[in-house]
Amino acid sequence: MERESLEMDVVFVGAGPANLSGALHLARLVAEHNEAVTGGKREGKSLGEIQIAIIEKSSSVGAHILSGAVMDPRGLAELIPDFVDQGAPLESPVKEDHFLYLTPKHAIRSPINPPPLNNHGYYIVSLNRLTAWLGEKCEEAGVNIFPEFPGAEMLYDADDRVVGVRTGDKGIDKEGKRKANFEPGVDLLARVTVLGEGVRGSLTKKLIQRLGLDEGREPQVYSLGVKELWELPDDRYPTGRVTHTLGFPSDQWTYGGGWIYGMQNQVLNLGYVTGLDYRDPLIDPHAEFQRFKTHPFVARLLEGGKMIRYGAKAIAAGGWHAVPRLHADGVLIVGDSGGFLNAARLKGIHSAIKSGMLAAETIFEALLAEDFSAEKLQSYERRVKESWITRELRRYRNFHAGFRHGRWLGMANAGLQYITGGRAWGIFDRDHQEPGHEAMQKLSAYGYGGDNAAERYKDLRFDGTLTFSKVTDVYHAAVAHDEDQPAHLHVLDTNVCATRCAEEYGNPCQRFCPAAVYEMVGNADDHRHLRINFSNCVHCKTCDIMDPYQIINWVTPEGGGGPDYKGM
Ligand code: SF4
Repeated sequence: MERESLEMDVVFVGAGPANLSGALHLARLVAEHNEAVTGGKREGKSLGEIQIAIIEKSSSVGAHILSGAVMDPRGLAELIPDFVDQGAPLESPVKEDHFLYLTPKHAIRSPINPPPLNNHGYYIVSLNRLTAWLGEKCEEAGVNIFPEFPGAEMLYDADDRVVGVRTGDKGIDKEGKRKANFEPGVDLLARVTVLGEGVRGSLTKKLIQRLGLDEGREPQVYSLGVKELWELPDDRYPTGRVTHTLGFPSDQWTYGGGWIYGMQNQVLNLGYVTGLDYRDPLIDPHAEFQRFKTHPFVARLLEGGKMIRYGAKAIAAGGWHAVPRLHADGVLIVGDSGGFLNAARLKGIHSAIKSGMLAAETIFEALLAEDFSAEKLQSYERRVKESWITRELRRYRNFHAGFRHGRWLGMANAGLQYITGGRAWGIFDRDHQEPGHEAMQKLSAYGYGGDNAAERYKDLRFDGTLTFSKVTDVYHAAVAHDEDQPAHLHVLDTNVCATRCAEEYGNPCQRFCPAAVYEMVGNADDHRHLRINFSNCVHCKTCDIMDPYQIINWVTPEGGGGPDYKGM
């Protein structure tokens, strides 16, 4: 197949906060340098026109971006010090912090807010809007943004050096044949490629495996955030109020908690995080969130309101010990792809922005030296280590692992760590962190027999007013994929589904997917098998993370397909 090759200097894969910040910072560093050299204020040679591109799988910048989100402005203030005056889309400064412990019937307000969740001076934002705004800033600075161009494959030279990225083909039908509108993907050749694909990036995953970038690191662990926006009939929940909850509906062996944020125009932003290292194979993170809304405190808040938007996204929760090597020849990893989120603070936007900026400074130096080797790019690791990203992550480095010993010991460990600056001893030691798919127990370990998936949620009803089925919720994520394309969920061995997986785990993909993509259909006589409703997929990556046999491989679908998280 003939493919067009385009030569760029730097290609950023994914238009999230990390890469947009990196591209913007790099464009400015280059422009400042060239101006200083031509104006005689700096020695050296001008870099000339540096071609910087960002490719993005969604139809527009921000369409696939989902977060809580309360933003610590530290990163944005370094990138754009006058971001407020420049009109950054901020919902509201945080005006009140609440922390509640939920029993099945009561909400008990903690007299003190846990220090990591102190949000004074921060902002409630729609990350979708903030990202779109950063995209505009990039374009003003001369960065080329290509939406609907998913990164499908890394390009390597004979010595395994990254030399760019291949974008996905367009116009392939579900049988794998070319349609009339077929367009082959483009080879974007770059001196440096920056992977900022978000959590469990499909190219990042392969790169880490191929080059062994996780050698000597802890396995990454994840959580899944499931979220809805509601329009309330009155101002019962003030703009700027932030509430975090612990307790109901999670059991004490499942890491989880809720959030409720007051946005502008009587819009309530609420969601629930479930650790993707749960043990009970019947857990369904979407159902956990629906149960969260049935708590009397939450249900009262939502009474008379209307659900308007839905979304779900995995979160990297492993912290400092799970950050992989962030560089190799011709490539850097930034943002959530690098695992910079601080799970104790539920914050990662600030560190994503900062990591993008540090990558930009590294690339700028490499451009001056015309050296893009791993040796040269290694200074990115040093920059990250010397920055506040590392100071912050190290302070909470054993936070998530503690919850493997249950909620109360996990909380005790979190408190202890806060006092000791992140140290852990004995049972809390970091060696106890394990990948989520290995934490999931078999049905037999829980005393479940056969296909009794309704057991855990037997009292949960989807009434269409307060609680919604996955299918109804997915409609509110505005998901769209062309149905006539190959499924982008590659299940490497479907024979396992109706036999071993059904027996051992009861086909957990039907539960951990928050978008009703996986469905076991047919009966024993009628060849029971897995149906993949891939057009529902909200790109949360949970299946790639949580499948107990690790045979689900999420790859990018045709460009433009996926959710549209407007205002989320
Ligand atoms: Fe998430 Fe996988 Fe379901 Fe898509 S198919 S919504 S990535 S769990």
